[in-house]
Amino acid sequence: MKSSNKSALKVVNTKTPESKPGASKYVTGAQDSKKDERGPVGDMYERILEQLGEDPAREGLLRTPYRAEKAMRFLTSGYSDNIEQLVNGALFAAENDDMVVVKDIEYYSLCEHHMLPFFGRVHVAYLPDKKIIGLSKIPRIVDVFARRLQVQERVTQQIADTLMEVLEPRGVAVVSEAQHFCMMMRGVEKQCSSTITSAMLGEFRRNKATKDEFLALIRPSLR
Ligand SMILES: [Zn+2]
Repeated sequence: MKSSNKSALKVVNTKTPESKPGASKYVTGAQDSKKDERGPVGDMYERILEQLGEDPAREGLLRTPYRAEKAMRFLTSGYSDNIEQLVNGALFAAENDDMVVVKDIEYYSLCEHHMLPFFGRVHVAYLPDKKIIGLSKIPRIVDVFARRLQVQERVTQQIADTLMEVLEPRGVAVVSEAQHFCMMMRGVEKQCSSTITSAMLGEFRRNKATKDEFLALIRPSLR
């Protein structure tokens, strides 16, 4: 197999019997039916591999364009999610007006400047007025906005705005902390720095005591 990446230690052969070891270029659709599942993004990933100096025909990369497309479509699936459908049936009448806090919601997103991951946790609070939402829906709302090309500030704001719109509460607070691969792996290469963004709406913006209460509740969770 023609490949500049050929390793002397490579002994494992995972090829299916019908694929020809001597084939100089990419296997055909008939030889690898899975390749057919690849869409236009996968074809572009093959070009990217070539442009980066890789050999898309080498064994380890044969299905990479397909896998990369599938991964990227999942990581940007938030564009096609529908908030209305998501919260449908999960809104209930509020029985009291105490602050609801959901801490430490993990999230993974892609920075829109480098398309590299950033990941962290988000802490959410709201002051119910008439409606509350099933608690499991809040992490789902976070994912809707995290699974897009984003900047951390915008994810934070969109989560807050959405809860404000859906729940019509007296206030919403969202604090998010994240580490950015575009900072960790390139550029400034600061592995341990974490970025915090927040959005405070309604009572959390107007009333310092309310905001401080929320911040005190999440402080143990902040890095
Ligand atoms: Zn970036």
